[in-house]
Amino acid sequence: MIGPEGRTVTRQPIYLDHHASTPVDPFVLEAMLPYFCETFANPQPLGHAFARQAHHAIEKARRQIAAILGAHPEEIVFTSGATESINLALQGALRRFGAGRVHIITSAVEHAATLRCLDALRGDLVDVTVLGVDDAGRVAPEAIASAIRPDTRMVSLIHGNNEIGTLTPIAPIGAITRQRGVLLHIDATQTFCRIPLHPDTDCFDLLSLSGHKIYGPKGVGALYVRRRNPRVALEPMVYGGEHERGRRSGTLNVPGIVGLGAAATLAVEKAPEERQRLRGLRERMAEALLAGVPALRILGDRTQRLDGHLSVAIQGIQAGALMAAVPNLAISAGATCAAGKPGPSHVLQAIGLEPEWATGTIRVGIGRGNTQAEIDHATTDLIQAIASLRPAHTLLG
Ligand SMILES: *Cc1c(COP(=O)(O)O)cnc(C)c1O
Repeated sequence: MIGPEGRTVTRQPIYLDHHASTPVDPFVLEAMLPYFCETFANPQPLGHAFARQAHHAIEKARRQIAAILGAHPEEIVFTSGATESINLALQGALRRFGAGRVHIITSAVEHAATLRCLDALRGDLVDVTVLGVDDAGRVAPEAIASAIRPDTRMVSLIHGNNEIGTLTPIAPIGAITRQRGVLLHIDATQTFCRIPLHPDTDCFDLLSLSGHKIYGPKGVGALYVRRRNPRVALEPMVYGGEHERGRRSGTLNVPGIVGLGAAATLAVEKAPEERQRLRGLRERMAEALLAGVPALRILGDRTQRLDGHLSVAIQGIQAGALMAAVPNLAISAGATCAAGKPGPSHVLQAIGLEPEWATGTIRVGIGRGNTQAEIDHATTDLIQAIASLRPAHTLLG
């Protein structure tokens, strides 16, 4: 069978892990290619024409990212990805707060980059409050308001949850942090270019994003850093030749940054149509799984979620066994932490999912390249595999 793009729709395996990473869009690759062998110079200092061309390419990408956020180009710092951006936001700001005890608030469903970074900072001078979430994985704005103390300097929250897909409403939280004079950092790695956030209407001060979650290259990302009302000062984590206004030294990754700018511009252009299409495919699969599999639950908020993201818990099934039973589907297990540690992930624990459901949790990440035929194929495979793994007597209902 031939799909709409002229390729075989039953090609195997089917990639359904777009929240772990996305392929580089061919248009993005094309934009990057001249910056490897032709415009390869170090963009700093601007001593010659080669350097100036590379510099122009960097500044174009900076304007592209800034424009999407409604920010000033000076407010964009290029990094090696969202992990570094998150670390720079948290560590960089904390080290500038100066003497005295500092309090930071976050939630229990953050990415490891946030939680591990704050674990490392926690100590005599840094106190961290990790707020619980509801069963959809959302932190209540009122919980933030009541956790803020006189020494609270920052709140750091994920916008779109990579594990269970739920979106955090940022504006009501931003209104609180702004009013209380506390900085707000957003991990928008899953939502940048898809779900608009604006520094003024949503009142955030720092925002992390990554190339490889938006069909751009790996190893490149950015941090938005507010420059006025208030001006956010960061102590660098990487010292050197004072690149990025001293906030992140190191020769800039010119092709990567060009790719990030191109990927972001393309993603914004595609977003309205793509979001609707992905939502349609996700709901199609969700409905079919609910109808075809007894004792199956959809995790996360049913509507306020990442468009192509489906997280399901299947009672009495081991996610690892299910993945092994569908070798043609590239999906991920929700039950194990990063680095394969046993036990339910911190996110599944935080939403209070019982262990017998958590061990049977899988994530399907539908993306730009997936067709409806692929989704139907994957759905049928999953339903068959689950039925074969479940002894008949364990079926409920
Ligand atoms: C992928 C991801 C990160 C880490 O991004 P990298 O660019 O891979 O370092 C951080 N937060 C969220 C929500 C993510 O999905």
